[in-house]
Amino acid sequence: MTLRSRLTAAFMLVVLVPLLVVVGLVTTALPAAVADRQEQGLASSARLAAAVVGQLCVRARATAEAAGRATADPATLQAAIDALVDNDLADGVLVTGLDGRTLAVTGSAPPRTTTDDCVAGQVLRSAGGAQIGAAVRLSRPTGDVGWVVAAIDVDDALASRLREYANDGSEVVLLAGGQAVASSTDVPDHLVSEALRTPAPVRDGSRLAVLSPSRPGQPVAVLLVQPAEDGIRVLPYALALVVGAAALAAGIALLLARATTRPLEELGDAAARVAGGDLSTSIDVRSRDEVGRLAAAFNAMTSDLRTYVGALQHSRDELQAGVARLGETLAGTHDLDRILSVVLDAAMASTRAQAGGVLLLSGDRSGLELAVGQGLAERGVDGALRLPLGAGVVGTVARTGEAVAGRIGTGPGELRPSAGEPTGRTLVAVPLTSSTTVIGVLLLLDRADGGDFDDRDLATLRTFTSQATVAVDNVLLHEEARRLSITDGLTGLWNYRYFQMTVGKEIERASRFGRPLALLMLDLDHFKAVNDVHGHQRGDAVLVELAGRVRSEVRDVDTLARYGGEELVAVLPETDQEGAVLVAERICAAVRSRPFGGPDDVPLHITLSIGVAVFPEHGRLATELLRSADEALYVTKRGGRDAWRLAPPPGRPPVAVPS
Ligand code: GH3
Ligand code: MG
Ligand code: MG
Repeated sequence: MTLRSRLTAAFMLVVLVPLLVVVGLVTTALPAAVADRQEQGLASSARLAAAVVGQLCVRARATAEAAGRATADPATLQAAIDALVDNDLADGVLVTGLDGRTLAVTGSAPPRTTTDDCVAGQVLRSAGGAQIGAAVRLSRPTGDVGWVVAAIDVDDALASRLREYANDGSEVVLLAGGQAVASSTDVPDHLVSEALRTPAPVRDGSRLAVLSPSRPGQPVAVLLVQPAEDGIRVLPYALALVVGAAALAAGIALLLARATTRPLEELGDAAARVAGGDLSTSIDVRSRDEVGRLAAAFNAMTSDLRTYVGALQHSRDELQAGVARLGETLAGTHDLDRILSVVLDAAMASTRAQAGGVLLLSGDRSGLELAVGQGLAERGVDGALRLPLGAGVVGTVARTGEAVAGRIGTGPGELRPSAGEPTGRTLVAVPLTSSTTVIGVLLLLDRADGGDFDDRDLATLRTFTSQATVAVDNVLLHEEARRLSITDGLTGLWNYRYFQMTVGKEIERASRFGRPLALLMLDLDHFKAVNDVHGHQRGDAVLVELAGRVRSEVRDVDTLARYGGEELVAVLPETDQEGAVLVAERICAAVRSRPFGGPDDVPLHITLSIGVAVFPEHGRLATELLRSADEALYVTKRGGRDAWRLAPPPGRPPVAVPS
């Protein structure tokens, strides 16, 4: 064999060996990476779904507590628990006495229970199926009087909702006590029992299943099932590449065989290192001949491979970190701004966007306002930003609920932001939806690497925004539950509980800064007669109208609460004796000025009496001020009603002040 043919053969080997190594690496590592990525994605979706179930426990408990408070007034108990179920805070509420007797029930009735089931990690079994429930003890100063149980159905509809939240095409099975109780579709038993048996992801040929087990505070195990992704079919391409490269290499090898053996040895060494998996390998290029060029091409190939592997790693790490951060925030906060900031951070990091923001629809849904933003100042947005609904890119995404990605410009197929909208070279905008409607838009601009946003970016962002949906829904539910627990259902005024929470704080502040504060106690005159003559319903309507009239006579900083049946109490910060009697006089006048009732009602002439007490003259504690105002109210009643009286200084009989 001549030297040239030996060199040719050797050179071909040098080219083909690293090529085969690379092809081998890609064909084996890529399908494994795809499978691994799918498992990771499904596991984080399962954790997310489990976190949502955990939130249902919190919701059931909050609802049971709200129902517990409503038991204070047996007359309105049924309406109050009906309202809780109507507002979707629970599917069923049951109130029982200590002896187990049902006092009130609504919705899909939970069974009687006296253990806090969510904490114990149990699921209630009722006639209708499985439920997540929370029980609270009803206590009165005289002792315990019964139990309130609030429950949320664990049914196929819940499984379907979780399926929508996960938004990655997986089916959801909910399990309790080692068996499936609800599912978004039929899933074979063998897959369920296999998943229960092992903590690892389970495959059955065509499907992949991941289980998030139950634990205290989250009583339902969640199983997510997805079609298993095939690895990308790279083998045919790889073979074609090898054949093509072999032919090319043979041609070039013939030309290069004349070169010295030294560069060939170098190439051989480098190829061996790559074959050993060392991607940092490169060749010291010294000659400008064919071998030199080949060595340079080899260097470029290993460098591209490094960049690609690095980029793959980076985007996977960012995605996982983003999902984890979002999961933690979701489970731990009811702060909308913080949730949106985390969504924006994660979205920007995983797509490597240079600027972005989350815009939320205004309360009247007429436009979008910037809630959180990053890097927008450089683009002329200085904090406040309001965009019209339906116009420009962001406004259109909010109107249609359809995500868009592309270049910015005026050419065909390019995106045209409206005036005032932040702009750049490329953008992607994805709608944020609550369970029913669009609530805002996530906008990202300009990738750091100068590339366009692509379908992978869109898919990533949809993952983030669909998780944010769950968090946002929970915030809204939480706020609604909180609102229900501190407002009076009939008049919309603050309730007694809120008054108690507030009055102490206001007195504390007045005392610390040496400021005055007034407390007004209001009671309708002869109100029993209104009920007796015109019925309880008309009486209620009068109370609602009264609340409106009194509210418009006090300031926003004042606390106006329903103290009990037809008694209101007002806390007026920064108000001294003189100011307080002016307000009292104004309220008396507003009530007596015109009859109560609508155009079709019998007009009712109503008056009220007021007792006024002022801090610190009439007391330094809430109880003292209340007692003083109550005494003054009593004097007003005895003095003929439709008037106000100021409380006497402590230790002196009440002094009447003409009104
Ligand atoms: P006065 O205060 O002038 O002495 O006479 P009054 O008839 O108003 O007496 P009191 O304040 O003791 O009466 C309270 C009445 O208010 C009893 C009840 O019929 C009525 N009431 C209390 N809460 C409600 C309610 O939520 N709706 C209706 N319609 N009536 C209520
Ligand atoms: Mg009264
Ligand atoms: Mg009264």
